[in-house]
Amino acid sequence: MEQAISKKRIYLSSPHMSGKELKYVHEAFTTNWIAPLGPNVDAFEAEIAQYVGASEAVAVSSGTAAIHLALSLLGVDKGDRVFCSSLTFIASANPIVYQGAEPVFIDSEPETWNMSPEALQRAFQDAALEGALPKAVIVVNLYGQSAKMDEIMDICNQYDVPMIEDAAESLGSLYKGRASGTFGKFGVFSFNGNKIITTSGGGMLVSDDVEALKKARFLATQARDAAPHYQHSQIGYNYRLSNILAGVGRGQLEVLEERVSARRAIFKRYYEELSVLPGFTFMPELRETLSNRWLTALTIDEDEAGVSVSDLLSILSAENIEARPVWKPLHLQPVFKNNKYYSHSDHLSISEELFNRGICLPSGSNMSEEDVDTIINHIKSTVLMNQEKVGLINT
Ligand SMILES: *Cc1c(COP(=O)(O)O)cnc(C)c1O
Repeated sequence: MEQAISKKRIYLSSPHMSGKELKYVHEAFTTNWIAPLGPNVDAFEAEIAQYVGASEAVAVSSGTAAIHLALSLLGVDKGDRVFCSSLTFIASANPIVYQGAEPVFIDSEPETWNMSPEALQRAFQDAALEGALPKAVIVVNLYGQSAKMDEIMDICNQYDVPMIEDAAESLGSLYKGRASGTFGKFGVFSFNGNKIITTSGGGMLVSDDVEALKKARFLATQARDAAPHYQHSQIGYNYRLSNILAGVGRGQLEVLEERVSARRAIFKRYYEELSVLPGFTFMPELRETLSNRWLTALTIDEDEAGVSVSDLLSILSAENIEARPVWKPLHLQPVFKNNKYYSHSDHLSISEELFNRGICLPSGSNMSEEDVDTIINHIKSTVLMNQEKVGLINT
């Protein structure tokens, strides 16, 4: 009967409450602030702005909503182009299409797995020749690692095109000592259930442009004009964050640093045990940056390792362990099959290579050391078994 009891599931990245959230949620209940505004929303905005060093922040219902608002504030409209990282979750690009604009996808480079400045430069050169510069560039910091911000900002500034930093996965990360999410005209964070801190669902738009953020609040509350009757001169959205969920966020923010340390420790443990295996290469950390290591990601060269990513995924899945392939690049998505794509070089598409060989291992800050060791042991024994098999064939 033992056998029939299923093993406890190990998730890729599950919510990790600290207990501190309840105090703020309780306050919301006792004061009856059960609305998409209130003291927790105001305080959460101020605390995030303070934490990352931005002038202000606007709490919204999701990271996707924050990207949508940023594009709207930059005047992205029907027929416009927006450059966007290809190796990312589709939420980075969907709001471009909500605005009726056209995403153009930019490849990754090998040192950060994020937007390739080389590919971006070529995309800009072409766009300039065609007289159709993009209205914005969306740069993603994948799995917590900052993109090459200096190089990317230089190119964007050269063409005077604003950058939106999709820092949904990189809250708590640093680039040259400065907080991830504060490099563009707008920065975006997500508090979805699987992110490094969560409000179950939520997001944040940050900027130093206080006027623009005032407009963001206006657009996020159905664009209500200042009149006692409900009057509207433009179309808005219902994008504000609930005061209850903002309470959860305040409690989570208090432990963000601990969450970053825990995820970095998990990465380190995987790295120490698995980087010695043939064909295993971990996602790098660029010099002068600190990644929150939201997810531990690595690539596996099947020829050297003797196992493929899909072999490992099915072996881990059979043990009730949730691992995932690296994001499927957006330029390969059926829905974007007609969109333009700029690869890192003429014959090298880094995002495609990372997709073909990449795997994300469970990285939740609430995993026990035994959980991590269990995963390491399954991977090690799979690889060693295959190496032995190869060895036997050779003799
Ligand atoms: C999670 C995520 C988003 C979207 O955030 P939501 O809060 O889920 O809408 C956007 N971009 C990236 C890179 C993400 O990982």
